[in-house]
Amino acid sequence: MPHELQGIDSLAGKVVIVTGGARGLGRSISDGFAMAGAHVVLAGRNRATLDDAAAQIAAAGGSVLSFQADVSSEDSVEALCAAVVEAHGRIDVLVNNAGINPWYKAAEDTSLEEWRQIIDTNLTGVFLACKHAGRVMIAAGEGAIVNISSVAGRVGLAKTTAYCAAKGGVELLTRQLALDWARKGVRVNAIAPGYVQTDLTEGLLAHPVLGKRIVERAPMGRFAQPSELVGACLFLASSAASYVTGQSLAVDGGWTAA
Ligand code: NAD
Repeated sequence: MPHELQGIDSLAGKVVIVTGGARGLGRSISDGFAMAGAHVVLAGRNRATLDDAAAQIAAAGGSVLSFQADVSSEDSVEALCAAVVEAHGRIDVLVNNAGINPWYKAAEDTSLEEWRQIIDTNLTGVFLACKHAGRVMIAAGEGAIVNISSVAGRVGLAKTTAYCAAKGGVELLTRQLALDWARKGVRVNAIAPGYVQTDLTEGLLAHPVLGKRIVERAPMGRFAQPSELVGACLFLASSAASYVTGQSLAVDGGWTAA
């Protein structure tokens, strides 16, 4: 064989930060990296939720640390990256998963404060984590970043002005950083999920009209489970994707194929 077969076994021993890693999609992604033998670092705002998730991952045999961090604060993100380097000596993978809900309001009814909250977490938070973890990766000459975007970064969805703008920004930030860092050993990719059943979409799914409408519109006729996003994330972070950068992989049950 001309090449060594590379795969997700390359993630064993890697240091992986998952923002918002204690809950929802981030929690499934953290579980996946732990199962692949990585050292997982959960980053989030709530100490109790972080402790709980870290205890469960450790009980299942995973290597895990957790740090309190708010991705919308540069000081907080910088301190997070410094703490991870102090604990592990490096950052191999960053998964920018932390995000907040759309307000489900039309643009004309969205306040500047509501707009800023979404942009600060869902777009600026991704930039800040890429910037500070990216510096560590560039110095090491290697690293992989996976940004959790959304189908809302590819198509307009009703009454999600700031959320769509933020996720569209994440899609292009992914491609832009991939170019800047391609010769520095750092790959930057994204995953664009369709509707996934988590706390973030609980209200939508339960809504008698909207929930039904989304399920009817979804080609597969259902929401995804968080575990269905994990394989794509592990792939993009692993050496199996060593020549993949600047891409966004839709894991949307066919939503954007329509
Ligand atoms: P969730 O609400 O279950 O979890 C989000 C996590 O992010 C939580 O742990 C939360 O504490 C954390 N978080 C929020 N703001 C933060 C901040 N400022 N600093 C640090 N952590 C913060 O949501 P989820 O459904 O698991 O969503 C995860 C990601 O996937 C988000 O970026 C979301 O936009 C994206 N996404 C979700 C869906 C879906 O249908 N659930 C679809 C497409 C994309």
